[in-house]
Amino acid sequence: MAVATEREYGLFIDGETAEPADGEVRELAEPATGKPLAKAATAGPADVDRAVVAARTAIEGAWGKTPPNERSRLLHALADAIVANRKELAELETRNVGKALLSTKPEVLVAAESFRYMASTIGSIEGGTRPIGGSILSYTLKEPVGVCAQIVPWNYPIMLAGWKLAPALAAGCTVVLKPDAATPLTALRLAELAAEVGIPAGVVNVVPGDGPTTGAHLVSHPGVDKVSFTGSTATGSEIMRLCADPVKRVSLELGGKSPAIVFADADLEDAVGSTAYGIYYAAGQSCDARSRLLAERSIYDDVVRLAAEKAGAVRVGDPLDPETQMGSLISEAHRAKVHGYVEAGRGEGAEVVAGGEPAAGDGAFYPPTVLAEVESGQTVAREEIFGPVVAVIPFEDEDDAVRIANDVRYGLVATVWTGDPARGHRLARRIKSGTLTINLPYGAFPGVPFGGYKQSGFGREQALETLQTYLETKAVLLSTGARPSNPWGL
Ligand code: NAD
Repeated sequence: MAVATEREYGLFIDGETAEPADGEVRELAEPATGKPLAKAATAGPADVDRAVVAARTAIEGAWGKTPPNERSRLLHALADAIVANRKELAELETRNVGKALLSTKPEVLVAAESFRYMASTIGSIEGGTRPIGGSILSYTLKEPVGVCAQIVPWNYPIMLAGWKLAPALAAGCTVVLKPDAATPLTALRLAELAAEVGIPAGVVNVVPGDGPTTGAHLVSHPGVDKVSFTGSTATGSEIMRLCADPVKRVSLELGGKSPAIVFADADLEDAVGSTAYGIYYAAGQSCDARSRLLAERSIYDDVVRLAAEKAGAVRVGDPLDPETQMGSLISEAHRAKVHGYVEAGRGEGAEVVAGGEPAAGDGAFYPPTVLAEVESGQTVAREEIFGPVVAVIPFEDEDDAVRIANDVRYGLVATVWTGDPARGHRLARRIKSGTLTINLPYGAFPGVPFGGYKQSGFGREQALETLQTYLETKAVLLSTGARPSNPWGL
């Protein structure tokens, strides 16, 4: 099937495509070419209200009555539909985000796997009896939290839609998903596929729009029981504030400034080559990008040389070309921000040994960039650049590596490269991050909890822990008569 880029995309509410009542229709352009891509609607407050009502009606109606086995079957059917439409979805994602097909193809399949994995967890939703003495029968029930607002950023639209929707639906919740206004297309197609496979109307609603308007209205909506957010730490704090007064359940997956720590006993080719993959994948626009390359002092110069070599070897270009490894950034405005960080690095004494200037020509391209002579306190070593820029920082020994690794407000992931597995395990206990990988540049798989320490957020994605955040536990107690129900005899 050809990619329907000429299409107009509406909202998706109550099982069907809907015109915005008080939102607007915008022209989207391809980040890699600047050419028009599609017309897409954004949701206004009245549209969000309609979506929340649809989600409430579904959980109190058809979806609330759907037995667990049927929920499981429907999630598998949605996974099958994603796989069947994978080519269309990957191309649509690439055109919308500017990311290489080499990235979007597996990300579409990860979305499908998320539904399969969460379908497999449905059997684990169970209460239990809690013995408290013979005179009272006590047991627990697991119930869906209710209507969930889920907010995702622009960097992994379909994959994160899968990460969010799958556990919520597995738990029996209904969802109003808000993608970024700039990248709504694959989430809208996913909602259409959900309807096609028979997931009841109102279970999956998609309302693209801007954060401070559409997003804030959705988060604050009294009909929403839980908010699950992925995005920047600044927005995460704002969402926590919005959830505080009504005491809404909230989970936050936020930013990162993750280290790859290379010891002198590591396989340097593998360590630096894999780290290059870990930072330049998605042009560095990943929360878990290994954007700090920490190198033991004795091998620092070799690591810098290799990092520059690897950066120069990345195949950058048309993201629809199947050979391309790195496409464009999301927009020219974002590219200017990334370049601003590189300039700030230069100003603080960093040496640019690869890349460092925006590419000429159409599209928001920026080359793989390596900054050497960076120290831990500098801006480029502390702030999330969210572009294809790695800062190489020297360290003296294990203690120093741990100190530098932890010397940021984030704690999402970390990687240790070493020939000594025991060292890897020692560091796993000392580095404050939600994931630590040893001699492996990635660590997000269905079933493995993914999420942050510190200001990288709280809550976990993709695992049994995630499912539990969409469930309430209710204690039920019944008097069997042996204990007085009225101890004061009133
Ligand atoms: P962002 O915080 O600006 O926006 C994320 C989403 O929140 C968007 O849909 C946006 O419209 C919405 N939003 C913004 N303000 C809002 C408000 N006041 N109320 C409700 N919604 C609001 O982030 P971004 O720049 O689009 O995304 C990049 C960030 O996301 C990076 O910091 C990255 O590390 C993080 N991220 C984290 C993970 C993770 O799993 N930890 C995954 C991907 C991206």
